[in-house]
Parts: sequence; structure tokens; C-alpha cells
Amino acid sequence: MLAAFAAQDATSCGRQYPEPAPANRSEYQRDRDRIIHSAAFRRLEYKTQVFINHEGDLFRTRLTHSIEVAQIARSIARALSLNEDLTEAIALAHDLGHTPFGHSGQDALNECLRDYGGFEHNLQSLRVVDRLEERYAEFSGLNLTFETREGILKHCSLRNARELGELGKRFLEKTQPSLEAQLVNIADEIAYNNHDVDDGLRSELLSVDRLKEVKLFAEQYDEVRRRYPAIAPRRAIYETVRRMINYVVTDLIDNSRRLIQQSGIKHIEDVRHHPGPLIAYTSAASEKTGELKRFLRRHLYAHQRVTHMMSAAIKIVHELFEAFMRDPKLLPRQYQDKIREQPEPGEQARIVADYIAGMTDRYAMREHTRLLNPGA
Ligand code: MG
Repeated sequence: MLAAFAAQDATSCGRQYPEPAPANRSEYQRDRDRIIHSAAFRRLEYKTQVFINHEGDLFRTRLTHSIEVAQIARSIARALSLNEDLTEAIALAHDLGHTPFGHSGQDALNECLRDYGGFEHNLQSLRVVDRLEERYAEFSGLNLTFETREGILKHCSLRNARELGELGKRFLEKTQPSLEAQLVNIADEIAYNNHDVDDGLRSELLSVDRLKEVKLFAEQYDEVRRRYPAIAPRRAIYETVRRMINYVVTDLIDNSRRLIQQSGIKHIEDVRHHPGPLIAYTSAASEKTGELKRFLRRHLYAHQRVTHMMSAAIKIVHELFEAFMRDPKLLPRQYQDKIREQPEPGEQARIVADYIAGMTDRYAMREHTRLLNPGA
């Protein structure tokens, strides 16, 4: 049973190109299905989350990250009687616009596009589902519902918001997105905070001793060691991470339920016009997750082994971009055709960026070798 304020087909703001209602699915199920069948979704398998894809088979990739986000988000949605199908669609699509090589890839591409409006991965995810997927006879993109697109666009600069029409409005008017969008945003954080602890320990860039500085980890880890004194180290880590996720998810569900009740909202439009988000932690849990985030930023994302790998990635993105700008004939045929249709330098830069952003890590490395280092 859906809550009255959950997103639902009947109150949806619809699709850009009107289509008949699906026969045996909800509108948001159809969105989810379209996302899973997209090429961009399959490429997530070979894109870096934190660790470059070929470093090991057990590390998260963008695909396994997105699946974990969907799992966490759906549990929260069900507990709060929100729309699970919409939640899943947003979660599976939230990282579709990510470049190869994680955040370094995105920063590099943003620099390349400095004179042409920059590069934002969130906006790129929207561009993928609105325009770049070419698989339907009647429209470009996936023609998703407004609510899924609203959820994908987590943040956006004011300049870009002005160009986005209806979808950009909430950044200008400072209104809220659906509760489903709000919760996927937090589920994303829950997923990466916790899987990065796991991957960080597996890679030995983090140690248990170091992590014990972080309250959220220390509390759960100490409890696991107290209850199971003879537990094997790897199993203790899994058990700790499992409990950390459970702690924050439970806090989030209980507190959000309280906030929703107090707010008196009755309709998705009330959600949008509520003065602040209604999916939120208690301040205690919020402090603890903040501490973990800061720890990961300092000790994992800025670790020398990670940044070293990343400087190689930045070089690859820059050199690919320059090569394609200099000689568009190096691009695949369909991109060359697009440049011929829109030859201004700004358009050419955007088309090159679309091509590079769509690359997987290994494809970018292969292209780089083929074009710039053919003897290697
Ligand atoms: Mg993510």
C-alpha cells in the first residue's frame, strides 16, 4: 500500500513525449526496465567507483554500487510506504553519467570543458536518459517520467537549472523533490560510505586500528568483538559493516517517519513545497556519518595509491579530449556525423565529452594507446 504522499502514476507529471499507459506495469516499472536495458547501464560494470576496475575482482564497480544503492533505497521505501519502483529506477540510473576513472575522470573532463559550460556528472546522467540513448523509434533518450528524471538530477548549478525548464525549477525556487528522490540521495551515501570501508580494508589502504577513530565503526566493531571473541578478522569486518548499514538505515527510517507525521503532508505536491527535506537522520546519526565521510576523504580518497592512479587517469582524459578536438575524424562515425550537423566549437566539445564520458575505464585506456601511443 502506497502512502498518499508517495509518487504514483495518477499524480505523475508525465513523460516528455506522451505515450499510452503500459499494459501490465506501472509507469515507474517501465522507467526501471528501460534503464536496465540501456547501453549506459551495462557500461557501469567497467567503470571505477574508487578503485580502478582492473585492480581486483572484489572491489565495487559503478554497477555493483548502483545495485547496492537500489537495495538500500528499496528497503527504506517499503518501510515508509513510498514508491519502490520509482525508488529503484532512480537508484539504478543515478550514476549513468559518470565518466571513466571515477571523480578524477569527471574533474578532468570538467576542466577540458571549462570554456564550453563545464561537465557535471549529474547533468550528464540526465543527458544520457534524455538524449544520448538511441534505441527507440519515436524519440531519442529513454523518455522517462518527470519523477525519475527529477530524482536523477540531484544537484545542478543555477546556470544549468535555468536552461532545464520544469526540471530545473526546483533549484531556482528552492523546493524539494519527491520523498523517493530524497531517500535515494541518502541511500547513495549509505552505500558508498559502507562499501568504501569494506573495499578500503580489503585493499589495505585502511586499517581496523585507524578506523577505530571513527565512532560509527568503533561502536559496531567493538560490539562484534565482544559478542564473538573468536571471530575471524574478515568475518568481523563484514559483520561490522552489516551492522553499520543497519544502524543508519534504521535511524533514517524511524526519524523520517516521525518527520513525515509531524509535517502533515498529504500529497506529493506538499512534499515538494515543504520547507525542507523529510527524509533525514537524527542529529546523532548525522554527526556519525559526517565523521565517517571526512575520515574516508582524508584516508582513502586522498591516499597516495589512489591519487597516483588518478593522475594517470586525468592525463588519459585530457589527451583523448585534445586529440578528438584536433581531429574529429578519430571519432566513431556517428559522432563525426553529429559534429557535421553542429560544427560550432562548443557543440563539438560537448559531443566529444559525451563520447569520453560514455567510455569504460578499459575502453578509455585502449583508445588512448591506439591513438596516442600506438607502439606501446
Ligand atoms: Mg553513486
